[in-house]
Amino acid sequence: MRASHTSSLARDDATRDGALEFRRPRIQKTSNSANLETENLEYSKPRVLNTSIAMPVLTVLCGPMFAGKTTELQRRVLAARALGQHVLVVKPARDTRYASDAIVTHTGERVAAKSARDATDLLRLVDGEPATPSLVAIDEIHFFASEVVAPINTLLDRGVSVIVAGCDLDHFGELFAPFDALIPRAHEVVHIRGTCARCSAPSTHSERLIAATERIVVGGAGEFLATCADCFRPSQRSPRDMPR
Ligand SMILES: [Zn+2]
Repeated sequence: MRASHTSSLARDDATRDGALEFRRPRIQKTSNSANLETENLEYSKPRVLNTSIAMPVLTVLCGPMFAGKTTELQRRVLAARALGQHVLVVKPARDTRYASDAIVTHTGERVAAKSARDATDLLRLVDGEPATPSLVAIDEIHFFASEVVAPINTLLDRGVSVIVAGCDLDHFGELFAPFDALIPRAHEVVHIRGTCARCSAPSTHSERLIAATERIVVGGAGEFLATCADCFRPSQRSPRDMPR
């Protein structure tokens, strides 16, 4: 029954405007469909308005490497700017993989950014802006470790919304320090998944291909592999490096 319904709609389209069959079997403009459109608009609003000055919000974008976190961060920055918001984009100075003055995706898309040497540098950059930003976007937040939590709380208390992106799990498979404090306070947490390099399931972990005992390692495709939890092979700690 469904097939005949679809072909009937497609035929209507074809006779009306010569459209290819099956190209866009339109839903007729009934009062119901008008309601649907209104509901969709209402649904999309909060994602943008969440970054308003009136009620500061903390948004966390997290997931493994190569999943598209920076892409999603860029998308939200551009969406906020399109609404006239003043957005400051910040990245850790130690991440110089692609550029020191931009957040750059692994596929080369870039948005200009200021470099912060450490977490205290974050407030200095905000205060150095010609006007107080309504939104501060921070990429690779895990590079700042737990020291970034206090300045983020200060920004929220000042009425500045904050959106962060980064790896929530380190290459030992453990939660990265800032996320244990940021996730409980976040108004929105988005788990961004890519594809497991071994089995093509959704990726959740970042596996270190080259042995390293330090927790924070700047690396790219040659040094990391994104995997699902089942395929993940955690880095091994030496006994003296075990977490306290
Ligand atoms: Zn897998």
